[in-house]
Amino acid sequence: MADRRPLVAGNWKMHLLTAEAAAFCRRLAPALAGRAAEVVVFPSFPLLPAVAAGLAGSPAAWGGQDLHPEDAGAHTGDVSGAQLADAGCTWALCGHSERRHDHGEPDELVAAKVRAAARHGLAPVVCVGETRDERRAGATWEVLARQLGAVAGAAPPAFALAYEPVWAIGTGDTATPETAQEAHAFLRRELAALLGAERAAATRILYGGSVKPANAAELAAGADVDGFLVGGASLDPQGFSDIIGVYG
Ligand code: PEP
Repeated sequence: MADRRPLVAGNWKMHLLTAEAAAFCRRLAPALAGRAAEVVVFPSFPLLPAVAAGLAGSPAAWGGQDLHPEDAGAHTGDVSGAQLADAGCTWALCGHSERRHDHGEPDELVAAKVRAAARHGLAPVVCVGETRDERRAGATWEVLARQLGAVAGAAPPAFALAYEPVWAIGTGDTATPETAQEAHAFLRRELAALLGAERAAATRILYGGSVKPANAAELAAGADVDGFLVGGASLDPQGFSDIIGVYG
């Protein structure tokens, strides 16, 4: 994995209430001492104050699950990068497949969100991944190249890429370590073509899609797998800690 520090991110999606988030942080924070991996959690927006209070002083960071491309304005229901930064966020998820599919977010909008994150000092985790139909149709590399190509120029140096095959998200149908490594290696070659070899070598590429404590170690063995974006299993502090612990 070269000298890239592993990054393990938890995407809580639309789960947990304030007291549950606070309890989660009380369990997670002490479990992080001495861990090799960098850790970030992505709670839904109303939970950010509880997470900020619960993780302050711990090695973990927190971020927004989405942001609007503009910094302020008449956008009911949206949250800006400025507001995320104001809530202590240092990360933002961009282009998660549930945003792409539930909200019809096209590549250009994802790129605008990446630019907004960068303006506010938020490191984006940019999600890319093919659907099951796209994989079956042999279109995986075309889809990944298109999604990455749309955002790479907008991405600040601190960004991380997440390979999240849509067919593996929340399905229990995890990619095999070989399938994940093949896609990660492809994405790193694409990064090199788009941003140069040095940035490609420095950029962390996370795997996401039904990662569990039981499969994290074998996935982490891939040379281009630099950590995880964990959904369901990140809701259990013990399971999430166990995944983090795969890296020592
Ligand atoms: C995700 O939400 O990014 C994700 C990978 O979910 P899960 O781990 O539940 O598949």
